[in-house]
Amino acid sequence: MSDAGAAQNVNRIAALREKLAAEGLDALLVTEPHNRRYLTGFTGSAGTVLVAADRVALATDFRYWEQAESQKGHGVDVFKQEGKLSAWLPGLMAGLGGKKIGYEAGDVSVALHKQLREAIAGMPTGDRVSLVQSEGLVEELRAVKDEAEKDALERAVQLGDKAFEDVAARIEPGWTEKKVAWEIERYAREHGAEGLSFPTIVGGGPWGAMPHAYPRDEPVREGEPIVIDMGVVIDGYCSDMTRTVVLGRPDAQFDTVYEIVLTAQETAEATIEAGMTGEQAHMIAQAIIAEAGHGERFGHGLGHGVGLEVHEHPRVGSTSPDLLEEGMVITVEPGIYIPGWGGVRIEDQGVIENGKLRVFTRAPKLRMTGA
Ligand code: ZN
Ligand code: ZN
Repeated sequence: MSDAGAAQNVNRIAALREKLAAEGLDALLVTEPHNRRYLTGFTGSAGTVLVAADRVALATDFRYWEQAESQKGHGVDVFKQEGKLSAWLPGLMAGLGGKKIGYEAGDVSVALHKQLREAIAGMPTGDRVSLVQSEGLVEELRAVKDEAEKDALERAVQLGDKAFEDVAARIEPGWTEKKVAWEIERYAREHGAEGLSFPTIVGGGPWGAMPHAYPRDEPVREGEPIVIDMGVVIDGYCSDMTRTVVLGRPDAQFDTVYEIVLTAQETAEATIEAGMTGEQAHMIAQAIIAEAGHGERFGHGLGHGVGLEVHEHPRVGSTSPDLLEEGMVITVEPGIYIPGWGGVRIEDQGVIENGKLRVFTRAPKLRMTGA
């Protein structure tokens, strides 16, 4: 980590320790890969982080020792795992006998949980720890982004905008949906993306009525709505954007449906405030779509948090009590899906700043003439 990175890592660990104290936990075993990276800076694909009151240990196997040493943030020690879990776990847990150790219930498999219990049972009585199920502690911290994270997310969005604009200017009837997806990916990779946030969605015509349409070998056709949902990764952080485009002249239904979705989307962006729940934000768009007679055709949440993962805290949907807070980065993506015809979805990403949503996404949206 850079010096700035090291300072962030220290702040994150301090914030986690406060949460652990509030939960009555003495330490947390972090196995979820994004959480592991968030707390230590380590990007390897295997390892366990122990965050205790007096130390942070990053346990990993010989494949990653060098990488862990070079990436680890301030105050993190690399713990060299050797042999089976039962061989190294006692060393990692040294000094924690009798303490309550949380584990990430959303990540630990039943099989791993059994191995952990067996390894602990094999330790001398006084050294044994008690395992306590915990959930979402690091994810809740990750929901509020620090400056470096906001910067990375905004840069990811900017590259996503450029990739979309490049391809939107060249796309023509006859390109397959797969070609559209590949052209976006190629542009993004050639211009610095580490990868995609998720496999690009391209849905032409009726196929676009499925919110998560995977690209086919089918050509895109003139006059049909084409839903393109895409994201790129920069410095580990994801962008997420949807645009619905038409080649040539759309049908009359398109103009009506598109206008409703655009109004719902832009009204929600202008109205969202810090302190609202995810449900309240969702209902801004839901009310507009329902008023226009398509209430049953929205069907998914208005948006979601975005960061190291493309879907993370907070949830922004019809049953979400999550509070929208300063520093959270979310998407706003209403849609209307009509079986047999197609779909329209428009999605931007932005940060809650000074109490309002500041939208990062700049890729142009279709504007109906006269609107
Ligand atoms: Zn998306
Ligand atoms: Zn999204």
